Amino acid sequence: MKYSDRINVIKGIGEKTEKVFQKLGIETVQDLIEHYPRGYEEFQKPVPIAELREGETFTIEAVLFGSLTLRRVRNLKIINGKVKDSSGSINLTWFNMPFLQKTLRTGTYYIFRGKVIRKNGVLVIEQPAIYQKQDYYKLLNILQPIYPLTEGLTNGVVTKSIRQALSDLDFAKDYIPKKVAKEFMLMDRTKAIKEVHFPKDRSSMMKARKRLVFDEFFLYSLALRHLKEQKAKLKTKYRMEERPECNRLINSFPYKLTKAQLRVWQEIKKDLCSNYGMNRLVQGDVGSGKTVLAILSLLLAVKNGYQASMMVPTEVLAKQHYRSLMDMLDQFGVNICLLVGSMTAKEKREAYERIKNHEVDIIVGTHALIQEKVEYASLGLVITDEQHRFGVKQREALMSKGGQPHVLVMSATPIPRTLAIILYGDLDISIVDELPAMRLPIKNCVVGTNYRPNAYRFIDKQVALGRQAYVICPMVEESEQMEAENVIDYTETLKEALAPGVTIEYLHGKMKPKEKNDVMERFANGEISVLVSTTVVEVGVNVPNATVMMVENAQRFGLAQLHQLRGRVGRGEYQSYCIFVCDSNSKEAWERLDILNKSNDGFFIAGEDLRLRGPGDIFGIRQSGSMEFKMADIFTDAELLKAAAEAVKSLQDNEVYRIFEENPYLEEKILSQKNTL
Ligand code: ADP
Ligand code: MG
Repeated sequence: MKYSDRINVIKGIGEKTEKVFQKLGIETVQDLIEHYPRGYEEFQKPVPIAELREGETFTIEAVLFGSLTLRRVRNLKIINGKVKDSSGSINLTWFNMPFLQKTLRTGTYYIFRGKVIRKNGVLVIEQPAIYQKQDYYKLLNILQPIYPLTEGLTNGVVTKSIRQALSDLDFAKDYIPKKVAKEFMLMDRTKAIKEVHFPKDRSSMMKARKRLVFDEFFLYSLALRHLKEQKAKLKTKYRMEERPECNRLINSFPYKLTKAQLRVWQEIKKDLCSNYGMNRLVQGDVGSGKTVLAILSLLLAVKNGYQASMMVPTEVLAKQHYRSLMDMLDQFGVNICLLVGSMTAKEKREAYERIKNHEVDIIVGTHALIQEKVEYASLGLVITDEQHRFGVKQREALMSKGGQPHVLVMSATPIPRTLAIILYGDLDISIVDELPAMRLPIKNCVVGTNYRPNAYRFIDKQVALGRQAYVICPMVEESEQMEAENVIDYTETLKEALAPGVTIEYLHGKMKPKEKNDVMERFANGEISVLVSTTVVEVGVNVPNATVMMVENAQRFGLAQLHQLRGRVGRGEYQSYCIFVCDSNSKEAWERLDILNKSNDGFFIAGEDLRLRGPGDIFGIRQSGSMEFKMADIFTDAELLKAAAEAVKSLQDNEVYRIFEENPYLEEKILSQKNTL
């Protein structure tokens, strides 16, 4: 078996399984063995039912008494059963596993393992795994990998496939020069890969993980060095000059720019009006007002006779930016066009034509923008918003359009400056470190589920005042489908719970882009008062009239993500409120959420979250919204990141050259890393 072989060389992976793996981006043996566990299960001895506590995973050995009952809620089939041991009894619940009614026998002892939660005041184990005693005891004290999955793929299949691949492979490609590996006392890479999937014990797994994290950071830093050297100090073809329209635009805003905004605008202008290309990152917390900086830059480029584009990660956001651009730039006779995936082929073709002929000046869009078909007449500036959602490659593709346009990237990811300098090593950095003054600070509260009726009354009141609200439904890890059903169910409940006549709509990841846009647009126009949603509203959306953000099951989200969600309100002149509903009695959960109560500062929150999780908790809640490496976490692994960056910096040019020469596909590999940079 070779690294580059397609995964169907592995026994048991047929056409169907191959397709499912593809959904996770796994095509080759290499992709497969680099599909690392997201955590491990450690199987412990069963405990007496009387000792179960809420919020943790437990194993019990118990006998089923009475029969299993089946209930249907919408298209969810819910099975309930009751089991006991000598110390007590507990209810068990399974979803969509109706066959259990046939396979589980009353009066028989089984081992059940699952998370204990509280429902309607009593403890239940939800979706417990079921084992025969003898099978379970074989698993004791072994770290079992838990893999990221997708619909149609079980942990068992992934585990088996990886085990196969590893047993057939005798070495893994190693990119790290020997002297570096030695200096940092890194485990051999082949061994590390094997150990991380099937660790001998915890300490060996930690060493293996260290090696693989180091590798990721090393390659990443190498990529940056490579990028930077390639575009170092290129004279630009798009040198600009100051234009009076920009000040006119600033004067037309209904507010004064903050000092931070003015400072960053100066920095951008200086770049654009110099002889060299701009490569700048604008960092600023949610709500700091980055969009106007983008708009000013676009206007400057256009008034210098160039085209400019703005790329965003979601269609909803693209449309929103499109609207604000139309509003603000109408007075300057600028032609703007939208380019998104949901447009018809004809509409796209027309847009391409107009772009090519320079009939449009500004192009706003999603990835469709960077499709090959788009040819620009004279692209002088490229802006990407919510940068952390894009890969290096996507940005490269956009940059290579036309001859090296100026590049401005904007991100709200709260990373400390020291890390930002490494992670965005090829860019200059500007920070918008001030929120607009007129903002009333958001009022926060962390509440239990019994507070819900009050929250609903509160939303009613805000809606009666003409305001709007978001309600974020719990994350469902199992599948997007279940998450969608959840949102729909919740919306139904809410229709009963809120005052009659309040317009409620929902938004989830499974909806078609057009449906999503439609809902978002109506919410933005104020036609919808309450929007029930998954975290799809998390990035960038701006509806200043919305004043309530209620997050269900807040304890399940990362703090940085909750902070992003909170950033959806408090964007206008009205007092805004955030209600975090905590559906857990665990003290840690409340403590963690309380951090949001204490601070509105993204950096501080990320830091506190890290401190609470502790660096030992390496597989804790992933901060969605921060960069996603396969294994590394920029917060918890910050020290390794610094070390790897140092190591790359210390390499001689010829050593770097040699790494690339010996690994002809490395460049491609580095550039195709998802979600990094
Ligand atoms: P973000 O930095 O999160 O992208 P936005 O650019 O979307 O933030 O700005 C958030 C809101 O603040 C918008 O409604 C915008 O019009 C408003 N805004 C931007 N700058 C200022 C300012 N200097 N004073 C008051 N409001 C501002
Ligand atoms: Mg924004």
